Order: sequence, then C-alpha cells, then structure tokens
Amino acid sequence: MTHLDLHCHTNCSDGKLSPLELVNLAVENNITHLAITDHDTVAAHHQLASVDDLGLSLISGIELSAQWSKVGVHIVGLNIDINSDAMVHAEAYQSKVRLQRLERIAYKLHKRGFDNILAGAQQEAGINQVGRPHIARYMVKQGMVKSVSAAFDKYLGAGKVGDVSSLWPSMQEIVEWILGAGGIAVLAHPGRYNMTRSKRIRMIEAFAEAGGQALEVCTGNQPHGMSEDLANICERYDLMASVGSDFHSPDYPWVKLGKYPRLPARCRPVWEQF
Ligand code: AMP
Ligand code: MN
Ligand code: MN
Ligand code: MN
Repeated sequence: MTHLDLHCHTNCSDGKLSPLELVNLAVENNITHLAITDHDTVAAHHQLASVDDLGLSLISGIELSAQWSKVGVHIVGLNIDINSDAMVHAEAYQSKVRLQRLERIAYKLHKRGFDNILAGAQQEAGINQVGRPHIARYMVKQGMVKSVSAAFDKYLGAGKVGDVSSLWPSMQEIVEWILGAGGIAVLAHPGRYNMTRSKRIRMIEAFAEAGGQALEVCTGNQPHGMSEDLANICERYDLMASVGSDFHSPDYPWVKLGKYPRLPARCRPVWEQF
C-alpha cells in the first residue's frame, strides 16, 4: 500500500534527525514515498544521493521562505532538480537572506537586553541552515527564556519583535524558482498562518496567480475541518492537493512522521504528477 509523507525536516535545517535517521524512521513507519523538505536547503538530498537502497522512494523537495502582504509564507517545492541552476541560485540566495535576517533579529533582541544572539544561533546551527529555532534553542540554554515555545510566544513568533519576513523574496519569485527547477509548487500548511479566512483565501488566490499548483491540504497537527475547507478552495482555484506531516523531531510527539488527516476523496493528488 502507498503511504506518503511529502513534508518533513532533518538537521540540515531545524529538524532533529540526520537525513539517514529520518529515512530509517520513515521505513519503520511503513512510509513508501518520502519527500524531505528542509527550510531553504536541499543538503539532505545531496547527502542521500550516494546511498544505494534507502528502502523507500525518496522524492526531492525543499520548503522555501517567501513573503506575501508582509506575512512570511512557506512554499514547498516537490520533485525538483536539486542540481538545476534555479535551485543552486535559490539555496545561495536564501542562505544569504537567513544570515541578514539573523543579524537584524539579533540587533532587535540586543535592544531588548539579549546579547550574543548572532554568534549563539550560528553556533546552534553549525554548518546547517540557520533559523529562528536555533535562536530559540540558544535563548533557552542561556536561561533567557524557559522553553523554545516561550521564545516564540514572547519574541520570535508571528507579530513579535523577531518576526522579520521583509527580506524574503515574493511568492511569485519563489514559485518561478521551483518551476525553473522542474518542480511542483505547493503552498505549505495554508491553515497555519495567523490570518482571517478571507485573507487566507486572498493569499491562496495570489499563490495560484503566481503559478502555484497545489495546496498542502493535509498537514500534521491541523485544526479539525481545515482539510475539508482547503479541499473546497482547491476545487475553486483548480489546485492539486499535497499531504505531509511537517515532522521535525521525535521530541514533539504531537506530530508523527507519516501522520496527517485523511485526504478528501475529491482532491487531485499532487503525486500523480511525479
Ligand atoms: P524560520 O524558518 O527561521 O523562519 O523558523 C520557522 C520555524 O520555526 C518553523 O518551521 C517551525 O519549525 C518553528 N516554529 C515556528 N513557530 C514555533 C513555535 N511557536 N514553537 C516552536 N517552534 C516554532
Ligand atoms: Mn521548521
Ligand atoms: Mn513551514
Ligand atoms: Mn516545514
């Protein structure tokens, strides 16, 4: 039987497991098709390219950060050519933005009395793509906050001082990169952005106009009824549907690799295109 998970993370971005550990967990969970979609990097796919038999079908993927109407939004690229000029450019560009964004957040947190955020977060990330979770982990270690979720609630989450999305490319540009890499552009977890339903629909409309092809109709930890609502929106804008847990770590047991709500039968699955 086919069992897919088309959205998950490794320690190449803000996940906990190495690429091979993640694949092994997926095999344990009877996943047959896995897309690793790290934030703004395909490093996991380069690492796994030399492994002969993974025990499942690996689909190349990435989760790219974009902005729309001052909101940071995530666009998953599936079945991309990781060696294409478009992807090489995308990774380099986004790495630069992540560094610039970190500098800006560090400056803002410095004004709030938190020092050494730049070096601390960089140390947490090591050679991997640096993100807000690395800032949060550093703040926890330093006793600046009690937990990672407290760091997001107070300083890093939507609308807080460390929520800097203005440096990300537009949705349109990100979709162009994904299409340029021969992939399919999927709007990630559309129900998770902090906005009203009418604004959400405007965002989806803009995504479709930009050439986006699918919505992530089913994701882990999703409010009840959201997948039905998104399935209706897919029909209205002629979009396909994707599914994925957005798994990051076994330490967060409320999101399990391969687990998400059932896809409504009327949806057109994105994987029919692979
Ligand atoms: P970034 O990619 O640097 O913008 O960071 C976004 C990532 O932070 C998301 O992909 C999540 O993994 C994580 N994140 C977002 N909100 C929270 C939260 N409230 N608590 C813990 N982690 C979060
Ligand atoms: Mn993440
Ligand atoms: Mn995301
Ligand atoms: Mn994700």
